[in-house]
Amino acid sequence: MSALDIGIRNDASKIWLFDYDLTLYGEEERFVLNSLDHRIAEFVQKTVGGTFDRATEIRKDYLVRFGTTLAGLMAMNGTQPDDFFDFIHEPEYLIYPKVAPEKLSLLQSLKGRRYVFTNGRGDWSRAGMAHMQIDSAIEDVFDLRMMNWEGKPHASAYEKMEKWLVSHGLLAPKTSDKSQIVLLEDSLRNLEPAHERGWTTVLVNPNIQAPAWVDFHIPHLLNLREKLIESSD
Ligand SMILES: [Mg+2]
Repeated sequence: MSALDIGIRNDASKIWLFDYDLTLYGEEERFVLNSLDHRIAEFVQKTVGGTFDRATEIRKDYLVRFGTTLAGLMAMNGTQPDDFFDFIHEPEYLIYPKVAPEKLSLLQSLKGRRYVFTNGRGDWSRAGMAHMQIDSAIEDVFDLRMMNWEGKPHASAYEKMEKWLVSHGLLAPKTSDKSQIVLLEDSLRNLEPAHERGWTTVLVNPNIQAPAWVDFHIPHLLNLREKLIESSD
């Protein structure tokens, strides 16, 4: 962390990118992700057969080896992404984060643009944000479909995100200074490529130590407030 970087200027040039799972809702609501993971393991079991415990092992193994369980299923089992997401996003099997008025006011206070940048299909984060009642503060969701199903931490995901920002007139083409893009993420693995591209990185995670290259480290989303330097522009 640079000694000069005491905070993030909250100004109109900023492009705030939020990971969804375990970032917009935190560790204290891990049961939300657990409900999805359970459903993912059921999909794996349906696809490869065997016991639920074995399917859970495969789910975790694919996550480590391929970045996401879906990437493993696509590479190893020929899974079609929409079949996977249609199955795992069945609302009756899922738990959503609770209403979060403090998060809404924090997000509304951020100048510039605000998007979700997620390795899920957009309907999952959109439903979750609707439950949290923060959806009005997020302009759009850049989801796995928009990354052509190859998500973070693959370089192509960040390249596509930048291209999308350029195409919307939010990022200057071929700019060398991309520090206006601020990525908030619970996953260090997903933050690292952002750091390498010159984005500002915010690790949102109460359980791990931040390496020196991380620009800011906060335990929970709401702690972002303490890192903001208010600006008149
Ligand atoms: Mg996450």
